[in-house]
Amino acid sequence: MAKYASPPRLALAHFLEELAPVIEVLVSREPMLKGYLRSTTVTCGSPGCRCAAGEKHPAWVLRIPQGSTTRNRSIPESAFRHLEPLTEEYRRFRQAATRFRELMREAAKAIADLEVARQVDPDNQIQRIREGK
Ligand SMILES: [Zn+2]
Repeated sequence: MAKYASPPRLALAHFLEELAPVIEVLVSREPMLKGYLRSTTVTCGSPGCRCAAGEKHPAWVLRIPQGSTTRNRSIPESAFRHLEPLTEEYRRFRQAATRFRELMREAAKAIADLEVARQVDPDNQIQRIREGK
C-alpha cells in the first residue's frame, strides 16, 4: 500500500504545498483598503447640466464597511485607478484568510482520522504477546 493512499494521509501530504501560496498572500506587505468599488451614476448639481435632464454622469462609489453599517464615498474616475489595486489586495487577503481556515480545519480532521485509524486494540496486542505471535 502506498504511503499516502488514504484521504487523511493525502490531505496532510499536500498540506504544506497548499498552504504555501496562501501564506504568501497573507504575509505580503502590499497595502490594502477594506472597501469595495461599485460603478454608479450621479448628478453634479449644476442646473444647466445634461444630468439634470436625466443623463447622469458615470461615477464610482467606494463602499466602506464599518461595523454593522457601510459608508459610501463617491470618488472621481482618477481616484478609481489608485483605489482599485488597494481594494483588490484586500479581496485577495480575505480569500487567503478564508482558505487558511479551511486548510486548518481539513488538517485537524485528517489528524483526528489518522489518530483513530492508526490505533491498535490493547487487549488484542496483549493477547498476541501471550500467544507468542
Ligand atoms: Zn451634471
